[in-house]
Amino acid sequence: MGKRAQQKRAAKHAKQAKQRTAAASRNTAVFNALAAQMPRLTSMDDYEPMSTPWGDFTDSFTTVAEALTAAEEAGGLLSCFAFDDSGEYERALRRGEDGWRYEVTLYPRGYLRELVKTSWLSAEDRDQAVEQLRLALSAYVPPGLRRPDLEVVQRPSTTSVPRVGWTQSVPVAGLETWEDVRLAEKDLPLFALPPLADGPGGVCDPLPEEIFTLFQAQGLDAHSCAGCGMPVTNRHPHWPDVWVSVENEFGPSCERSLLTGMDSPQRVPHVIDATQARPARRPTGKEQKVQCRHCAAHVTEQHPDWPGVWTEAGGDSSPVCAVVGSGCGDAQSYDLVDCVYPHIPAGGDSPAAAAIAAAQQTGYFHQPRPVLF
Ligand SMILES: [Zn+2]
Ligand SMILES: [Zn+2]
Repeated sequence: MGKRAQQKRAAKHAKQAKQRTAAASRNTAVFNALAAQMPRLTSMDDYEPMSTPWGDFTDSFTTVAEALTAAEEAGGLLSCFAFDDSGEYERALRRGEDGWRYEVTLYPRGYLRELVKTSWLSAEDRDQAVEQLRLALSAYVPPGLRRPDLEVVQRPSTTSVPRVGWTQSVPVAGLETWEDVRLAEKDLPLFALPPLADGPGGVCDPLPEEIFTLFQAQGLDAHSCAGCGMPVTNRHPHWPDVWVSVENEFGPSCERSLLTGMDSPQRVPHVIDATQARPARRPTGKEQKVQCRHCAAHVTEQHPDWPGVWTEAGGDSSPVCAVVGSGCGDAQSYDLVDCVYPHIPAGGDSPAAAAIAAAQQTGYFHQPRPVLF
C-alpha cells in the first residue's frame, strides 16, 4: 500500500474510532451543544449515536446467563464480530466438550489480511490453502508469545473469503456480568498479539519479505509487488490475469514508491519482478474507445500500460471505475472479496458485472469521480 493510501486508511480508522468513542459516551448534552453552534443543524433529535456490534450485543443480553440461553437456542454458539482501535475481533459463547466457553478470536488486518486474502485467491486448491494459512499464521507468532491453548482456527465467513485467526478461550463458569467477562479476557496472552495483527511494522510499513517467505514456506502462492510492496494476486475474480492488491483503493494500480525514479502521478500496473517495471506511458489518441456503462468515461483496451484491460483513454488513464463504498457491517466489511471495480464498456461484459450489480443494490458501490459527458 502506498503512503497516501496508508494515511487515508489510518485517517479513516481514526475517524471511525473517534465516532465510536463519541457513540460510546452517548453524551447527548455534547451533541446538543454542538448542534446549537451549527447554523444548519438546529436539532439533534433525530441523531442516533453510532453503536458498535459488541456494544449492541452486550446491550441486548443484560447478563451472561441471558446470552447463554440464546446460545443454547442457537445450537451451542453465539458470536459477534466487531473491530475497535486495537484490532478485529470475534467474541463468542461456544459449547465445547467440557462445557461453555467464552472465546476471543483476533484476525489479521491491514497488510497481513491482504496477504491472507491474496494468497488464498491465488491458490490452486483453496481448501488446502486454508490449512496452509493456519500453519503460516501459527508460525507468524513469535516463539515467546506462543501458548499451548492459543490456536489458529478458521471461523465461518460471510463471503467465500475464509476467516482465519488466533483464538483463546476461558470457561464461562463464574462469569456473570459483562464486566466479569472483560476482566477475564483482559489477561489472556492473545492480547499480546494485536500490535502484530497488521504486520510486523504495524499500519505504517509494508510487510517485510520474510513474511512472504514464511507464507511461501507453507506452500502458499504469496507475491509482493516489486514496485510498491503490496501483497498481490493475479487470480482475483474481477481482474483475471491482472496483478491486483485487494486493498480497497488502488486494486490493479501501483505507485512504484519502492523503485527510485519510477514513481509517477499516473498509476501503472503492479509488477512482481522489478525488471519488468516501466515508466507510465501515454495513449496515442488513435486507440479505439467506447464509453464505460457505469462512469461514462471513454475507455480502451489498447492503452499501452494496460493492454487488454479497459482503461480510461485519457485523463488519469485509470483502469479503476469504482471503489467499494461503506454501508456494510464490521463482519461483512472484513470478509469482502471485492477490491476495486473495473470499467465495463457499454454493450460489453465483464467477470465483475454480477458483483457490481449486487454492490449497487447493497450500497457498497462508490464511484470515485463525477460522471462527465
Ligand atoms: Zn505495486
Ligand atoms: Zn467506468
